[in-house]
This record gives sequence, C-alpha cells and structure tokens, in this order.
Amino acid sequence: MSPPENKTSPLAAPVASLWGVGTERAAQLARLDIHTIEDLLLHRPRRYEDRRHFKKISELTKDESATARGTIVAQGLKRFRGGSKSVFEFVLDDGTARLHCRWWNLPFMEKYFAVGDEVFVFGKLVETKPRTMDHPETEVIEGGEEGFIHINRIAPVYPLTEGLPQRWLRGFIWRTLEKFERHIAEPAFGVPPSGGREPAKAGTPNLPTRANAVRMIHFPEERADAEIARRRLALDEFIALQSAMQLRRKNFEARSRALPCGGDNRLMKPFLAQLGFKLTGAQTKVLREIRADMSGAGVSPARSESATHGRDARATTTATPMRRLLQGDVGSGKTVVAACTALMALESGFNAALMAPTEILAEQHFRNLQKWFEPLGVKAELQTGSGKSGEDGRWKMEDGKRVRPAILHSQSSIFVGTHALLTSGFDIPNLGLVIIDEQHKFGVAQREQLVRKGNYPHLLVMTATPIPRTLGLTLYGDLDVSVIDEMPAGRGRVKTFVRTADKLPKVWEFIRGKLAAGRQVYVIYPRVEEQDTAPVLRSSPATEGGNDIKAVTKELENVRRALAPFRVGLLHGRLKSREKDEVMTAFRANQIQALVATALVEVGVDVPNASIMLIENAERFGLAQLHQLRGRIGRDAHESQCILVSGAKTEEARQRLKVLEDTADGFRIAEADLKLRGPGELLGRQQSGLPNFRFGNLVDDLDLIRQAREWVMRNV
Ligand code: ADP
Ligand code: MG
Repeated sequence: MSPPENKTSPLAAPVASLWGVGTERAAQLARLDIHTIEDLLLHRPRRYEDRRHFKKISELTKDESATARGTIVAQGLKRFRGGSKSVFEFVLDDGTARLHCRWWNLPFMEKYFAVGDEVFVFGKLVETKPRTMDHPETEVIEGGEEGFIHINRIAPVYPLTEGLPQRWLRGFIWRTLEKFERHIAEPAFGVPPSGGREPAKAGTPNLPTRANAVRMIHFPEERADAEIARRRLALDEFIALQSAMQLRRKNFEARSRALPCGGDNRLMKPFLAQLGFKLTGAQTKVLREIRADMSGAGVSPARSESATHGRDARATTTATPMRRLLQGDVGSGKTVVAACTALMALESGFNAALMAPTEILAEQHFRNLQKWFEPLGVKAELQTGSGKSGEDGRWKMEDGKRVRPAILHSQSSIFVGTHALLTSGFDIPNLGLVIIDEQHKFGVAQREQLVRKGNYPHLLVMTATPIPRTLGLTLYGDLDVSVIDEMPAGRGRVKTFVRTADKLPKVWEFIRGKLAAGRQVYVIYPRVEEQDTAPVLRSSPATEGGNDIKAVTKELENVRRALAPFRVGLLHGRLKSREKDEVMTAFRANQIQALVATALVEVGVDVPNASIMLIENAERFGLAQLHQLRGRIGRDAHESQCILVSGAKTEEARQRLKVLEDTADGFRIAEADLKLRGPGELLGRQQSGLPNFRFGNLVDDLDLIRQAREWVMRNV
C-alpha cells in the first residue's frame, strides 16, 4: 500500500511510457506488480551488496553468504545421461584463489558468460576442495558510462522475474529516479521530515524527506541508510492506512446516530438468573463497556488510551453506534456476552442479528439462544445457506421484498445465521444490533456489508484469535476493543503433548482408557476439503494437498478399529447440513464417543464432556489454529489432554509445535505464529482488510505503527 499519489502526478504515468520500455519489458515489470512510475520507484531491493569491499575467494566459507569478484578463466558445459542432464560451470579467479560456480540443468547459462568476463558472484560454498558454489547469483561487470551505478557502491539487488536482468533494472531505476525524484511529494497526512539521517524513534519524527528516502532505499550511501529509508517509507504506509480508516470513521460518525439500545434489564435479569453460573469479572466489565456504547452514552471507559488499542479517548460525546471488537481466548465465554448484548437491543424494541462463519457454529448458537431466550418469550430464528427454521421456514413477500414470517410479529427477534444472512436478499427490519462471531473468518468487506443492512445498527465483532498489538492497531484501528482477560472458574487444565507417529499405538491405548472413564474425544485431521459455508471459510493451511495428508474419510475406519468398541462419528465440510447436525447432536448426547473431524470444529464448537483431542499431522496447522482447536477441550472441570502427532521430518517443525506444550497464552502463540508464518496465515486467507505493505513490517514495527497512529489521531 502506498500513499495515495495525486492522479495527475507524473508518477502516476505508466512505466511503459518511459524510454526503453517496450511491450516485453512492460509485461515483465507487470509481473512484479510494477505498473506506474511510482510502483517502480517503490520496488524494494531484496538485499544490498557492498561492492566497495569484497571477500577474497580464499576467505569464502561454507556458513556465510558473501560477494566475491573475479575474472572467468575457464568455462564449459557438460551433458550426461544421454543429454537429458547437464551442468554448466565456470572458474573464477581473483588472484587469491579459484572458485567453481555450477548450474545444474540450466544449459542456457552458457550464453551469458565468456572467458575474460569480470563477474560478481553471491552465495556460499558447498564444497571447499575445490571451492565451489552451486547456483550463485551473478552479475557481469561492464564498464562504460553507467558502470558507476553498479560497482564501487552499495548496490541494490532487486526481486526479478524471468527475462529481466538485474543490471538492466538497476540502471532503469537509477535513470528514472534522476528524472522523477523532484516529483516525489510528501504524502497528504505525512509527518513533516526533518531531513536528518537518524533512525526515526517513536515520538521524535526525525526523518528524511520522502524523496530522500526513496533515493536511499535504492542507493544508500551507508548500510544504515537503507533501514532509515525503510522506516520512513513504512511510516508513510502506516499513516496512509490509518488516515483512510480515520476518515472512514469520521464520515461514519458524521452520518450516523446511535440507536437507543441500552435496554432496561427486563429480560437480562431473568436471563442471568436462569444461566446456572455467575458472569466472570471480565465478562461484566466488558458488558458495561458495551452498554455504554449501546445506550448512546458517548465515551465509554474503554476509549481511554490505556485500556484500548482501538480508537482514542477524544473529547467527544456524540453518540455514534457501537463499533467494538471483543477479544477473548477460546473458552473465555464470549457467547454469553453476545447473548446479553442481544438482550439489550431486544429490550429496547430492536431486532438483533448474529453471524457465524460456519453452519455448525450458527446452529450451535441458535440452539443456545433458543434455549436461553425462549423462556423469556424471545424468538430465535436460524438462517443458513441450507437450513432454515422458525415458524414455518417460508418467506412472505412484502413491498416486493422477502420477509420472514416472524418479522411480521411486533415482537423482537434474534436472527442467527451464516453469511447467508448477507446474501439471501432479505432485510431484517428494525435492526438494532449486529454481532459477528469469529470475526477473523470474515473479511472487512463482509463486515461492512452486514452493517449496511440496517440504519447503522450497533456492531460487535468477536474473535478468539488473540491478535498481536501490531496487527490489532493496523487492522482494527477503527474499532474500540474490549478484552475478556479471565477464564471462567472451575476449568480443568489442558495438557499438551507433542508425539511422533510411531507413538500412535500408545496414544490410542491412552484414549481408550479415557473413553472407558466416560470422556469423549476429538480426532482431527488436516484436509483439503473445506467447503462448508464457502467462501468465508478457508482456514485450513493444508490446502496444498499432498499424498501424505490423511483424509478423514479414509482414516475413519482406522480410528474405528483403534477405538473399538466405542462409537465413532465423522464430521467434515462436505456433509449435508442435516448430516452434520445429526453427528453433532449424537456427539453432544454422548451417543458417539469419538468425533473424527477436520479443522471445521476449530471455531466455537462447545461440548464440555469432550476432554481429549488428538491432532494428526499437526505440523500442517498454524500454531494459532492449533490453539483454537485445543480450545474445544478443557471446557469443564476434567483435566484435558491434547496430543499433537507430528509427521514432521525436521526437528525445526517439531520445535515449533513445542511452543504449544509450553504455553497456553494465546497472545504469545499468536506472536510466534505471526513471526513464523506471517499475518496472512494467522488471520486466514480471507482477511481482506490487510494491505500488502512494501516497507512496513507487522512483526517489528510496533513503534512506527504507534507513531503513525498518534500522528493521525492528532492531525487527520
Ligand atoms: P468462547 O469465548 O470460546 O466463545 P463460549 O462462549 O463457547 O466460549 O464459552 C465456553 C463455555 O463456558 C460454555 O460452555 C459457556 O456456557 C461457559 N461459560 C461462559 N461463561 C461462563 C462463566 N462465567 N462461568 C462458567 N461457565 C461459563
Ligand atoms: Mg465462541
């Protein structure tokens, strides 16, 4: 994401308009997502090569990648296996030693080099006798007018695409920069530059100009310049994102008024009395924050800077609709909070909607809410892609729109559904509140879509993915945040063990023992087929397929054999909703003791007696997802066991899983996942709200993200 350049800026012109770019080059650049001159100037070097100092060939090692420079003294192509295989090799001499550089099965490499050429090579040795590199990066040194761009400096090395030479791109960027540098403007809401070269520290905006930063990112004079420049450009990205959010928010605040949904406890009191447990302190605190929003009381306590990483405490009491993210680890009791929130709206005479990412979860919510609300005289209605319930399940037409029968009643209702709530083309009249469960499974666009259904209803989005601060600030910068930071009492601990596949017989024996003692078990396999309520659910990282992925259907028989005589059910996304429903009902009623399932049960499923979970091929899941999965167990006082069976060949992959043995802290796990796998994986592929930062780094740039945020709050 780059700051919005003025459309009339010369930088908005296509690269193809530049001298030297024909259709072929333009197509190559397009493959690198370079379309405009601005894109070109923001094409970030992959690394830098200090071509003022070289390693002597005699000093190259096996452990460290380094650049050497020398002359080709011999080269040749050898073919073998009847010509189907080949190796091209040249020998480089720099006066200290010789270096063999080899390329396997790339015979055309031969035509790029000639004896006598001077070449840079970058790589590390695979052998020391003789010194050999396989497939090093190379660049032939040419003198001439433009030689100074490539040698005797810290040279940028760019990501390339087939057919695009490093040297050409570097020269091209240099020339374009010469010509267009003066058009690089400070961004609209940017922090004023101080022109300094010091790294920007939080709160002290000591920054080069944007134009300088762009030059420095390509052609730094010192190593440190590149990082100074990166930080400046990253700050611009964060500011661009946050000011867009801030503007959206301001626009929203100007146009909307909070519907009075504070409620009067008429339903809440009997509801809490029949619940069978007391709310935790954290649940109560969060409900206070929600009520303040819902009643239109203006600034809630949570809007102070210390308590939230959502929007700031601002001296405003305009009553705008709630826009709140509720974050709480798996099992922290978000559903009850959602129910209480719904009751506030219902008491106030409004309808409420609850959206969940899968049918199973929607049905579970529906069942719970029906059980809780029906005694209070409140109707719950289910609307999923395939299943409807309610009075008679039929639509009625009114003013050319399809309207559910229950809506014709004067009484307020809660509507529960999947994304079908968005797409079915029906309107919930008098909609006061929208709740989205498992927010991270939905894209920002979908969130907006649902909210636009009504006259600016209040919005509560709930997530169990503990979002690291950096991500929260960037992704949910336009939401207030409440956190449930306390688990209900009386929960057994979940012990987690990582085991290799050869321990499976013992694991099954252990599980049979637990089943005999009355517990139930989930057996989870990663799998390709995740087509439940598509397109919102794409959580499995195992979409790459592969023969070694054990498909649940295939495994079912094995599990049946391993757990006989106990009864085993099967749950996956390809089942019909009715079938899924039957399986879940049987599991809930303990008519089946083991549930073989895909990651489908990851979200929200709540069967307290199931206290054991076996996850096969655990290395195929992200850590945060495994944490979610094991959140299905440990839901009552029994001690629970989660066994992660890893088929991973590498020690590294097993070590990664050990994080789960060591900690139950969702935030630590999410941070680890963010570092290891990046934000896309942590949030699921559907997370459309996340821009592709060229320079910003969500793992390391918390200080910049904060700085951007403070700046935007004060100035936009
Ligand atoms: P999540 O936050 O993961 O959605 P749930 O809402 O499914 O968690 O709650 C997990 C379980 O804890 C449910 O069985 C729920 O009824 C129970 N629960 C929720 N709040 C409390 C509480 N204050 N005391 C005891 N049990 C609770
Ligand atoms: Mg839940």
